[in-house]
Amino acid sequence: MDSVQSDLRANRLLALLDGDTLQSIGRSLEPARLELRQLLYQEAQPMTDAWFPAEGVLSMLGAASAADTPIEVGTIGSEGMLGVPLLLGAQRSPGVVFVQVEGSGWRMPAAAFHAAVQAHPSFLRVLHGYAHALFVQVSQGTACNRAHAVEQRCARWLLQTHDRVRGNSFDLTQEFLAHMLGERRATVNQVASMLQHRGLIRYTRGRIEVTDRDGLEAAACGCYRFVRDEYARMLVAQP
Ligand SMILES: [Zn+2]
Repeated sequence: MDSVQSDLRANRLLALLDGDTLQSIGRSLEPARLELRQLLYQEAQPMTDAWFPAEGVLSMLGAASAADTPIEVGTIGSEGMLGVPLLLGAQRSPGVVFVQVEGSGWRMPAAAFHAAVQAHPSFLRVLHGYAHALFVQVSQGTACNRAHAVEQRCARWLLQTHDRVRGNSFDLTQEFLAHMLGERRATVNQVASMLQHRGLIRYTRGRIEVTDRDGLEAAACGCYRFVRDEYARMLVAQP
């Protein structure tokens, strides 16, 4: 494996491909920074690229309505890619996708992405598995938002972000967390204080540190494990 290939394998979907396929696909991948708050897809706009993060976290927002602040409907990190609507033949993005935790990765122009999917059935199978896992994440999130307490949902959100960053801490303002959870800032403040009081996180000036990972998992609803396990089942090397 050459060094370019070993770099590409920092994305776990690309890591599932055999060497020849990865080498071929790699020619269409351009290294890209993922800058904090960068908008990768905009609502109802054409999707010009597919993105494969190596590090960092992308946040998918539901379509805005006049009355509400957009709420997060899914997250994407190095375990996945941005471009499932492209894969499924959509021309325009259903919602906004932006960089929640900065990082880096690769971008692939939409035309090259379509060509690569056509040329490499194993790439298509990997992407199908990922599309299923992402669907489970989004649909379980919908049920979770309706059924589970804000403390549990907050713990779930922190865990899924922790899974996608290096190390134990990441930048996060309470205002942002409130948007992500679709809750009032005062409520999120209260929940964060409670999690901190229990020794599960440390929260200082817009930065979260996970101090007791097991405790945080115990505080989350079962949705966290359910989604994580589905990802583990789907994202395995193809025969
Ligand atoms: Zn839940």
